[in-house]
Amino acid sequence: MNLVDELNTRTRLGRRKAPLGVIFFALTACGGALEAELPAAPSSPPPPALRYEIRGADDEHLRDVEVCFQGFTTRRFVLLEGDGIVSATREGQPLVVEKGKGFALDADVTPTCVRYRVRLTPSVRPGFVHDATLLARPLDAPASTAVRIHVRESAGPVVTPFEVDEGAYVPRPSFLERSTTWVYGEGARLLLRDVDGVELRLVILPGQKRIPDEVLEAHLVRSLELARSLAPARYPERVLVAVAPSPVSAGNPPIAFGLARRGGGASVLFVLDEDADEEALAREDWVSVHELAHFAFPAMPRSEAWLTEGWATYFQEVLRARGGLISPEDAWLRLHRGFAKSQHDGTGRPLHEEALAMYETYAFKRVYWAGAATALEDDVALRLRGSRLEEALARVFEGEPFDRWIEFSDYVARLEASGHADLAERAREVRSGTGVPDLSAVYATLGLEARGGSLELDDSAELVSVRRAIVRGDASAPSALRPR
Ligand SMILES: [Zn+2]
Repeated sequence: MNLVDELNTRTRLGRRKAPLGVIFFALTACGGALEAELPAAPSSPPPPALRYEIRGADDEHLRDVEVCFQGFTTRRFVLLEGDGIVSATREGQPLVVEKGKGFALDADVTPTCVRYRVRLTPSVRPGFVHDATLLARPLDAPASTAVRIHVRESAGPVVTPFEVDEGAYVPRPSFLERSTTWVYGEGARLLLRDVDGVELRLVILPGQKRIPDEVLEAHLVRSLELARSLAPARYPERVLVAVAPSPVSAGNPPIAFGLARRGGGASVLFVLDEDADEEALAREDWVSVHELAHFAFPAMPRSEAWLTEGWATYFQEVLRARGGLISPEDAWLRLHRGFAKSQHDGTGRPLHEEALAMYETYAFKRVYWAGAATALEDDVALRLRGSRLEEALARVFEGEPFDRWIEFSDYVARLEASGHADLAERAREVRSGTGVPDLSAVYATLGLEARGGSLELDDSAELVSVRRAIVRGDASAPSALRPR
C-alpha cells in the first residue's frame, strides 16, 4: 500500500482535527494560484507572510518552487544547506544564482513572487530530504512572518512534521532560522498515533527488514513515551519519526543511526539494520530513546553539545531501565562503560572547543560522556535536595519551546536564578576543563565499584537509595538519605 492510500484508509487520530484527511488534501488536492491567496493590498501594511508552492519538474530529481512574500523586504533568498538551485526568475526575468546557494533580488518591492528550480538532495539516503536544501529562506524576514507551504501532487507524496491547515503545511517560526527532515517518495507507510498527547507521524520507508512494522511501531511509541516523560510540558506536540531499513555493517546497534532536527517542527530519521531482529531491538536499541530525548531539552549552540548530548546520553540508559527495557544493573554497566571509554578520548582541548570541533576530530566519546558524567553528578546533587535532574531542567527552561536555542551564559544564569549555583559552577568548570569529570566520589557514594570494564554494585553504600531511585524514576531520595 503506498503512502497516499495509507493516508486515505487509516483510521483517524481520535483527538486531532481530522489530520488524515487534511494531510491527504495537502499532498494532493491544493488548487489555485498562490498569488490569489495573498490578501488584497490593504491601506495599512500587511502582516509579514511567506508562501511556498512546490511542484514536480520534468526530471524526477528536480522541483519547481514558487515563493511569494509580503509585509517585509528582503535582498536575498538562501538555502540553509546545499547548493542545488539551478535557476531562478522574477516576473519572467532571470535572477543571478549564487553558486547554487541562493539568489539576490534587485528591488525592494512587496508583494512579490520568485520562482526557482532546485535539485533534490537526499539527506542520509533517498526518501529523506532536508528542507534546508529545498526551501530557500529570505534573509530579512521578521520572526513574526506567517509561513505556509503547499506541496502540489506533481511533487509526489511528502510527510513533514509541520501543522496542517487548510491544505497547507504551517511550520513553527523557527523555520526561518533552522530546518528539519521530510519524507518523500512512493511506497512509504504512514502511521498516525497519539502518544500521551504527542501526535506521532511514523513513516516506515520501503525496504527489506526482519522486524515487523507492528513491533517497530510499539518500540518507537515506547521510546517516545519514555523521552516525553522527561519534560511533558515542553515536549513538541507532534514529531515525525521516519525509519529507513538499510544494510548496515556488523557491530552496529539495531538502529544504526539517528538524527533529530527541530527547525519549524520536530523530526527524527532512523536507519534500521535490515538484519536486526525483534530481540536485538528491544535490548540493544538506545538510539531511539537518545534522539527522542533531545526534544525534552532546548537546543544549544554546537559548542555546548557536551551538555545537550550529555543529557541525551545519560537518559538513554536511565530511561530504558525505568521503562523495563534493560535491568538497572545493565543501565549502570552501560553508563560505566561509556564513562570508561571517554577517559582516553579527545584532543585535550577545553570541552566546549572539543564539542565545536568534534566532527573534525571525532572526539564524540569525550564530548558525549563528559556531558553524561556531569548529568549524573548534577542528578545526584539535586536528589539530595529533594529534586532531580529532569525536574530542575524543566524549571530552568520553563516556558521555552523545544525549538528555542539557548546560549551557555543564559543556561548558567538560569541555574543560578533557580538556586542551583553549584551546578552552574560545575558546568563552567567542566566546559573549560581539558579532561573528563572525575566520578570517583560519586561512584563511592552510590556504591558503584569499577572492576576494569565491569562493575560491582555495593548495596551498603551511603546513597544506595539514590542509585536505585535514579533508575526507578522516583521523584527524589527520602530526606533520611541526605548527607550526614
Ligand atoms: Zn544526540
